[in-house]
Order: sequence, then C-alpha cells, then structure tokens
Amino acid sequence: MVKSRLMSRSTLSSTIIGVIPQESKDDQEDDMSSLHSIGTAAVVVQVTGTNWPRPSYTLLVTGLCRFKMETLLQESPYLVASVTQLDKLSEDFDEFTKKHGGDLDNLADNFREQAGKLVDMLDISIPVVAKLKKMLENLPSQHLPDICAAIVKASYAEKIQVLDAVDLNERFKKALPLLMRQIEGLTLLQKARKDRVGVEIVARKKGDPFGRPGNMKRALNKISTDFDDDDDADSDEINDLEQKIKSAHMPEHALKAVMKEIKRLKKMPQQMPEHAMIRNYLELMSELPWSKSSKDILDIEQARRDLDVDHYGLEKLKKRVLEYFAIRQLKNSLKGPILCFVGPPGVGKTSIGRSIAQTLGREFHRISLGGVCDQSDIRGHRRTYIGSMPGRIIHGIRLVGTNNPVFLLDEVDKLGKSLHGDPAAALLEVLDPEQNHTFTDHYLNVPFDLSQVLFIATANNMATIPAALLDRMELIQIPGYTQEEKCNIATRHLISKQFKEHGLTAEQLQIPVDSTKMIISKYTREAGVRNLERKIGAVCRAVAVRVAEGMSKSKQEKRETPKSEEKKQVINNSLPENLSQDATTMAHPPEMPICIDEAAIKDILGPPQFESEVSQRLVQPGVAVGLAWTVMGGEIMFVEATRMDGEGKLILTGQLGDVMKESANLAMNWVRANAKKLTFGNGKSLLAGKDIHIHFPAGAVGKDGPSAGVTIATVLVSLFSGQLVRSDTAMTGEITLRGLVLPVGGIKEKVLGAHRAGIRRVILPKRNMKDLYEIPNNVKGEMSFIFASQLEDVLNAAFDNGFPALPMEDVTPSKL
Ligand code: ADP
Repeated sequence: MVKSRLMSRSTLSSTIIGVIPQESKDDQEDDMSSLHSIGTAAVVVQVTGTNWPRPSYTLLVTGLCRFKMETLLQESPYLVASVTQLDKLSEDFDEFTKKHGGDLDNLADNFREQAGKLVDMLDISIPVVAKLKKMLENLPSQHLPDICAAIVKASYAEKIQVLDAVDLNERFKKALPLLMRQIEGLTLLQKARKDRVGVEIVARKKGDPFGRPGNMKRALNKISTDFDDDDDADSDEINDLEQKIKSAHMPEHALKAVMKEIKRLKKMPQQMPEHAMIRNYLELMSELPWSKSSKDILDIEQARRDLDVDHYGLEKLKKRVLEYFAIRQLKNSLKGPILCFVGPPGVGKTSIGRSIAQTLGREFHRISLGGVCDQSDIRGHRRTYIGSMPGRIIHGIRLVGTNNPVFLLDEVDKLGKSLHGDPAAALLEVLDPEQNHTFTDHYLNVPFDLSQVLFIATANNMATIPAALLDRMELIQIPGYTQEEKCNIATRHLISKQFKEHGLTAEQLQIPVDSTKMIISKYTREAGVRNLERKIGAVCRAVAVRVAEGMSKSKQEKRETPKSEEKKQVINNSLPENLSQDATTMAHPPEMPICIDEAAIKDILGPPQFESEVSQRLVQPGVAVGLAWTVMGGEIMFVEATRMDGEGKLILTGQLGDVMKESANLAMNWVRANAKKLTFGNGKSLLAGKDIHIHFPAGAVGKDGPSAGVTIATVLVSLFSGQLVRSDTAMTGEITLRGLVLPVGGIKEKVLGAHRAGIRRVILPKRNMKDLYEIPNNVKGEMSFIFASQLEDVLNAAFDNGFPALPMEDVTPSKL
C-alpha cells in the first residue's frame, strides 16, 4: 500500500511488521483516526534509502497474513498495537474448500485460468514476466486473489475491498472483476499499441530495469499500461504537455525537437533525474510565445502626446523615438540601429523606455546587465548541466508572453568579462538585426526569432560600452537637467507621483515652486532627479504622519462627541445669539492643506546640504575652478597649487591618471617657458629651491583626461603672480606645449554642472563653440562663454584685469 503506517517490533530488516493503510488515499499520514482497521502482517526483506537530504526509505516486504487492529498501544516513535490474526497461510487449500464450501473450487479454477491469460498477454521474453508465470503456476490457489489484486490496475478503494475480504469466497469474487477488467483493457491496448509495446520491450530489456524480483509489479505496469496511480497521473500530465505544445504554434524545427523529447520522456521512469529536466524544458518550450505577439498601436500624434505627458523635456530623445515609430509605421519593420540612451543616473532613461512600450502597446521587460560577466547569463546553459536554465533573454520572453516586447538592456556599459566567456559577444547576436531572427539559446537548442523585439539600451558612460556593441547602437545622449527643468519635472510629475505613493492629496499637502527650488538647490546636487524625488518622498512621509495623527485625533473627538455636544450647548446658551455660530466654527476649524515653506523644509530635511562653495574657495592665489565630466554628470572641481621650499619638484595628488599628470607637466613647462612674458622673471628662478604641489580634490576619486590643462596653467600663473582667479569663472580645455587650447568632450554636461554649482562664466576651447548648440536656451541665456584658442586668451579671461593685457574675445550666447 502506498501510504501506510509501519509498526515495527525491533530493527526493521527481517522482522515482522504490520502494514496498515489509511482509509483514503488523501488522508494525512500522521492522522491516527484515519487508519484502516485491517492490515497485513509482513516480513521485511530489504531496506533501501538514504538519510540525506531527508530521511526517505523504501521497504521491500513479503505479506504473511491479514490482521485486525484492536487497540493502539503506542504512537511514537512508531505505532504499536494489539492485533488479531484473521487468516492462516499455512492452511491447505483442500481444508479451505472444506471449510468454505464447494463453490470455492470453481471460483479458484476460473481465477487461475484468467490469471494465466493475463500473463500470457505479456511478453514472456522479459525475465520478470517469465518469473511471474512460473510463480502463478506453483502458487496455492488461496494466494491468487491477493497477488493478482496487487499487480492489476485498481483504485485505492478497490484494493482496500480486497484486503477487507477476509472470507476467501468473497475475496475471489472481489478480485476476479479486477482481473477481467485488466485483461479486457490489455486486449484493447495491445491492439492499439502493438508497435509501441514492441519498442518498449526492447528498450526495457537493454536497460533491464525490471531484472530484480521486487520489481515485478513495475514490469507489468510498464509493459501493459501505467497501472500505478502515480504513473497514471504522470502520463496524464505528459499528455497535457503534449497538448500544450501542439497549441503553442511553434515553428517546425522546434516542434520536431520537442516531439523527440516527448518520446524520450514517455519511455523514461519518473524517478530518473533527467525526467524532471526534460519536463522543465518541455514546459518552457510550450510556454514560449512562438507566434504570439501584441498588436502595435501606431498613431504618431498620440505617441507624441503620450511621450509628452509622461516626461518633461528630453526633446531630442522624443524626436528620435518618434522617427523610429514613423519608420515602423511606414515600413512595418523594426530593423535599424538599436537605440542607446546615454546619460547620468536619474535622468529618465529607464522610465522613458517603459513609456515607449506603453505608447506602442507592447509588453515591457528590463534586463539589468550591470555586473553580468558570464556568457550563459545571456545565452543560457546547455541542458547537460544539472540546474541548467535559459538565458535572460529567453527568460524575459517567457515572462512577458509575447514575441515582440520592448526589452530594456539596462547598463550595457557595466558588462563584465570573465573566464566564462564574454557576455558582450553574446549580446551582439541578440542585437544584430541580421542575426537575431535565429537567436539560439543554449538551453533551448533551437533558434528563437527575436527580430520583432524592440531593444533599447541604457548606459552611464559611453567610454566603457564594449566597442563591438557600440558599433551596433545609435547613441542618444541625455546630459542632465537644468535647475529650471528639474523644477518643472518636480511640479508636473514627481510631486504628484509621490502624493499618490503616500496616499496624500493636494487638499492635505502643498509644495510651492519656491520650496521645490530650495530643495533642488540646497538639498540635491545631481544631473538627474532621483535624489530630488527621494527628498520629495521624505517630505511626503513627514506630512503623512501629521495627517494620520490628525485623523486619529478627530476620530477620538467624534467618540467623545456626546460630552462636547453638551459643552457646546452650554456655551451656545451662555453666548449672545450672533456669537454662538462663530464659537462652533472655532471648535472645528476647516481642514487646511499643510504648506511646505522654508522652515518646514529645514525641519523635515535638516540643514541645507549644499551651499555655493565658489566664493569661499577663491580667496587666495593658486586656486581655480575646473570642469570635470563624470558618469554622474558634469561637476566643478577646485584645483589648488602651493609652493614651498624644496628641490624644484612638481608634486601631484588626487589620484590622477597618466594623461592628467602629463597635462600638469605640460602646463608647468609652458609657464616656465613663458615666464618672462608673464613677468615672473625666468623659468629657472620659478622652481629654484622650491617644490610645487598641485592637488585635485575628492582625493578618493580617480581622475584622468587632458581637459584640466587650462585650469592647471591658470592655477600656476595665479600662484606665481599672486593674483586671484575670478570666483565666477570655471574653465576646461586641453593644452599643447605651444600654448594652444584644444577642444575637449562632455561640454554639455560640464556647462550644466557649472550652472548647477552657481557659476555663470565659463572659458571653453574655441573649437567647442559648436557644442553650445545643444545646451538649453535658458541656461545659455544666464551664462557667458569665453572661447579661447590660446592659453593667453584663457589667462586674460580668468583674471580680473586680464593677464597679460591681450585682447579678450567674449562671445555671448546671443552672438551664437
Ligand atoms: P535612469 O534610468 O536614467 O537612471 P529613471 O528612469 O529610473 O532614471 O528615472 C528616475 C525617476 O525620475 C523616475 O521616477 C522618472 O519617472 C523620473 N524622471 C526622470 N526624468 C524625467 C522627466 N523628464 N520627466 C518626468 N519624470 C522624470
């Protein structure tokens, strides 16, 4: 019996135990009340099993006789009961017939005949069947019903009925129909499956899984039909799976591969580890949306409106996305470069990807590639490994359930590399429109068409995107937001979003524009708006506490109303008639929204975190403001220099890369070479007995690149001349030994960074003039730009009265 309670006397092997079934197959094993009263005494022949990971044992037993359980004596650690033996095995059949009446003879003969017929229908070449045949021939007739009932397919209740038939007459009568039914089923089945049975027998013989005597029942089951209930359920599930696969509308090559696996699965015992693996594979194959796609909603006007509603600004990006949609509408194909949004964190790269999917009416899935360094993360593991699984692309396709979702490949610039292959190489196949219609995941082992998927990538830093990937992508840069834009984003999107998240309404909380501006300038310094959103969230949380407190107070008041009503009555009675109304209103003032002003911000967010540093730092010679590009956006950087007694050395600190160190040497040598012109005496005297130390702050952060050249030269000139550099001016540009100023990258980010930090005057290389085109007009309007082609131009602009007096070229945005 499948579920049974074991009652052991001592150690298990070669001891007699009682096997008692549960009343019903679904009863809990530890439910004593559901124990059946009749069981079988049996001798344990073999114990197999393991203690790890969980104790799980299988006992091979030989049944001896029936018994009836009288009283349960002990429940743990194992059951002990007093029992009464119900039948005797040793009895001769003739004695039996004498005892039980003449009809039994005929019944037994008929039964033996039918049992023989059943065995004859099985393949005698299988050793276990031959053994069974021999056993049935020699078996005393009184044992036939028990043995046959155990090997034929019967329900749990039917088997219990045979067990309960203590009277032999009745036992034959109960078991015979089961035997007949089996023969009938087998006849039909053999007709239908003649060929298949033949194949199975050959396979079984090869593997000899039924060679052992204890496996007799399994042999019978497997050859004829799935007798056991579990096997039956399994075959049902396989049939369901087959059905699911047929309705998945997969292409022919995939269907062929899957049907091959189904065949293998049908022949495989459920206990084999490979069984589960194949099933998982088949389930995945049946769930993949081979031909299921969502219909694109392609209305350019509507798309424009949707994109505008979801995101403020980002004009260039929206324009490019609309172009993409337009081509899709005209050509019905998405082939073309993959869009890659490059910009600092929090500028909306991910959220615009999501709104593109919404606009198109497609599913959206984000795959974070940060830190992925194994090829199989993208392309999956081969199924030969235990625990193998498909890669992230196929996993994503299964999750979204359509074959044309929008996939956002987040942070492609942070892909790693390891011994396990280069994930960027695997991504190439995914992103290449010429190849991705036959993308083969190692786990699937058949191609899946990815050509309808709209891939969008995001990155913080263009420089670290693998070159081969970069080649296939069209970069759209999002440099970061200006103060003004942030304020608009906050008032139009972030505040209402946070209100919703915190369950607040405009009747409860109001954040005026001035307060938003204060949060932006004094509590955040970032290119994006993520921290701003967090700070607004913090304000909402604080207000939510107040509102909730207010609510519980008013509830309490309501509960106390009878008393206060009385009080009010007293007040009203004692007041003149025209005043009584006012008094009532005062007791319950109307609900007012909480307005967040400067004091409230300080109260909630603490003292301001960022103040303008510019004026504080430039109070001594040897300091200038440079502009740096980082993945977080543009930033200002104070470069400092000092001179002390020494041996003429140039000391550089601040984790500088080689290029930056070279820039410093260049600047130093240019200053020395032009010392006379700059009225510092001669180049030798500048370093005579002195060391020069140049430091770049944020010492823990590595810096590199040539763009600090002009700043270092300015700092040195300021140091040697003793003149202060203008506090309102920042600069960037590469220099040459001849003093030429060369163009640098990241102008947009740097200018926005300077603007954020409150600097309104920027010195840029002349050849970078074209880059101002992309800077928002309001920022251009507030700032003035000086374009330098030589270091002299830089110096002229950096010092209050010019240095030395060379004509200065000041180009205001209006001239651009
Ligand atoms: P990224 O992917 O660039 O790091 P996210 O897409 O996660 O940034 O954006 C962070 C948050 O800022 C999101 O809640 C997003 O809705 C919001 N956000 C960013 N830019 C805008 C914008 N232009 N308009 C509206 N909300 C924006």
